[in-house]
Amino acid sequence: MRIRHLENDTIINVSQLLKAPVGTERYFTVHLDRLVLDSDLEARDLTASVRLLRTSNGILATGQLHVTAHQTCVRCLTEFDGRYSETFEAEFWPTVDILTGLPLPPPPDEDIFTIDKNHHLDLQEMLRQYAILAIPLYPVCGPQCPGPESLWQREEEVIDARLAVLQSLLDERA
Ligand SMILES: [Zn+2]
Repeated sequence: MRIRHLENDTIINVSQLLKAPVGTERYFTVHLDRLVLDSDLEARDLTASVRLLRTSNGILATGQLHVTAHQTCVRCLTEFDGRYSETFEAEFWPTVDILTGLPLPPPPDEDIFTIDKNHHLDLQEMLRQYAILAIPLYPVCGPQCPGPESLWQREEEVIDARLAVLQSLLDERA
């Protein structure tokens, strides 16, 4: 089985695969140093294994990705690097007919990605969406996390600080 590697690249020319019979497969590995996921979220060291399968409508991409994200633990507020995984499955439909070059109607579903008129399938947007899914909204630094106790202590400190301000105001009025 031949596996092609994409280094800091997410674009695959699928013209040959689109001409191949339904059921034909291609295998890829991808590594990205960085991938911007959102305005305030970035993944590092993204790796993915990708299988592209020719279907009657286009190409089905399946596989698994791994990402590292720098996060703040919701329980102890420590900053840490978490490594996360997610499996993916996404359809890519051509926008032009591979044989005639004529434009094709857009996919009926907005979850379906498109292959551009030059037969370039770009994995980036799909990887971005699945990387966001992989990264937990409420990350915990790990099994050794000191836990909510320290968060509670921090809350107490904040309350103590507020009470101190209130006390000083009351003292001024007295
Ligand atoms: Zn923690």
